[in-house]
Amino acid sequence: MSKAKRHFERFRILPLWQQSVIVTVVAVIGADTLTLGFYSVFFADRLMLDLVLTAVITIIVAFPITWLFLGQSAELMRLAEELCEVSRTDHLTRLANRREFMVSVGAVLSASKHPEGAGTLLFIDADHFKQINDTYGHGVGDEVLMALGQVIRDSVRQRDVAARIGGEEFAVFLDNAETADALAVAERIRSQAHYIAQAMQLDETGVTVSIGIARHRKGQRLDDVLRAADRSLYVAKKDGRDRIVQDVVLASAA
Ligand code: GH3
Ligand code: MG
Ligand code: MG
Repeated sequence: MSKAKRHFERFRILPLWQQSVIVTVVAVIGADTLTLGFYSVFFADRLMLDLVLTAVITIIVAFPITWLFLGQSAELMRLAEELCEVSRTDHLTRLANRREFMVSVGAVLSASKHPEGAGTLLFIDADHFKQINDTYGHGVGDEVLMALGQVIRDSVRQRDVAARIGGEEFAVFLDNAETADALAVAERIRSQAHYIAQAMQLDETGVTVSIGIARHRKGQRLDDVLRAADRSLYVAKKDGRDRIVQDVVLASAA
């Protein structure tokens, strides 16, 4: 970052009134310097009075204008940051959305130089979710998704990326995690999901998830890892749901 940019960043985080004072002081110094310049050429009899008058006029004009425009610019920056946050977040669960997951995990994978791979991916799918919607309505279905989002958030570390990547589908990328660590996290998510139905008093159906796990191998792209995790998930569904399957195709091919 350039020196000017660093100064501007320090200026930007000051309260609005301090920013306005700084700009007004700079304007007064500029206006008085010009007044002094004119007086050195023309007349010098009322120099002090005119310097004071120039300063007062500049303060009256510059301060409100600065306040107004810097206030608007701060508001615009706040809105831009809010918009950026919204564009990366799933509105229902407040986890990352699919786009953010692909961008941030994709970047981690391509930057990784770890010979063992960058980490492990969990592909989580709510079981028989259509039945939950059909039994209790879409609103309750949404609440179950929110609760699942919370279970996932509570089960991962700050540096992991957890996202809702589709309707009732979630993905978690566990940074630098071996399969054993990933299995422990997946098991926590799977078992905690059981308590959702109890907490929400959904007596007719349970809430369970199936989880497919795939370890990232050096040089693999995110699409490949997602596909591998999806294959594991497919087996978890086929074998009866509410279970975790790891690196199924790769393991059997090895
Ligand atoms: P499986 O165990 O094989 O995954 O069965 P499933 O019923 O979960 O899978 P299926 O793909 O047949 O249905 C997914 C359902 O998820 C259907 C769709 O209406 C529901 N769904 C998708 N997005 C949302 C959402 O945002 N809110 C709610 N309430 N339901 C959603
Ligand atoms: Mg699904
Ligand atoms: Mg499902």
